[in-house]
Amino acid sequence: MVLMETDTHIRYRGRFAPTPSGPLHFGSLVAALGSYLDARVAGGEWWVRIEDIDPPRCPQGAAATVLRQLEAFGLEWDGKVLWQHRRAPAYQSALDRLVEQGLAYACSCSRKQWRNYGVYPGWCRSGVGNAEAPCAWRLRSDLGEHPARFDDRLLGTLTFDPAALGDVVLKRKDELFAYQLAVVVDDAEQGMTDVVRGMDLLDNTPWQRQLQRALGYPRPRYLHLPLVVADNGQKLSKQNLAPTLADDERGIRQQLFDALIALDQAPPSELAHSPPREQLAWGIAHWSAARLATAPTRPAPQES
Ligand code: GLU
Repeated sequence: MVLMETDTHIRYRGRFAPTPSGPLHFGSLVAALGSYLDARVAGGEWWVRIEDIDPPRCPQGAAATVLRQLEAFGLEWDGKVLWQHRRAPAYQSALDRLVEQGLAYACSCSRKQWRNYGVYPGWCRSGVGNAEAPCAWRLRSDLGEHPARFDDRLLGTLTFDPAALGDVVLKRKDELFAYQLAVVVDDAEQGMTDVVRGMDLLDNTPWQRQLQRALGYPRPRYLHLPLVVADNGQKLSKQNLAPTLADDERGIRQQLFDALIALDQAPPSELAHSPPREQLAWGIAHWSAARLATAPTRPAPQES
């Protein structure tokens, strides 16, 4: 059952899809802002989806904090927020469809058994090894496009060997649906035309392309944004103390301005003192994805 109507006349619908494992940090603000500006410049819609598919990873109240933070930075979304924890029936019916078509299969193997192979060698493709054991469900990577390919607006056409990707897990042994399946089903059922997100998610895109093909879904456009990195060159994350987002007016203005800089939009320095509404209006008037440096990393501003 398709829960959301997909309007085929929508020219641009984009989304920000945070996992509420904690409050947003500066790196996630940059991803949110990039996807917001890209959508607004195109006269498009910008939706928010809370990817709380893995409840143990999502502390109570974190999603509400994330939404409050977006509001505080003036990032107003269209449509209703979609919560992945409510979407299990949609994911299950997509999985059932793949299984019926012989494109997905149950797998009882443990990582320990295949660790030395690098990627899972597909032993259960021809029948589950141990039907009594808990099973994960995997996508057959050997029946799709070869090589797998997709276009990124910044990086151009990227090609992948499906054998090197392996048979991605769609549902885990603990019965939770995997991010790859959830994101593909939701992007399609919500009618997303554009995926703008951080470069850290680039490695997932080939699997998502495979899944879109297997499910007969349309192909969204992709833009992977250069990442903001910490001083040590690592991706910003809660673990390496990414700058937390401010909740005071002065801090919010400065961080929004810093996010425009991180996206290579070269805002005029006086904009740093303007309220979010004005900064976003400037961003919409000036946004150019072509200005994004293709170098995958840039340093984070210092926390003030
Ligand atoms: N939920 C993912 C994250 O927070 C992002 C998913 C996506 O944009 O496709 O990293």
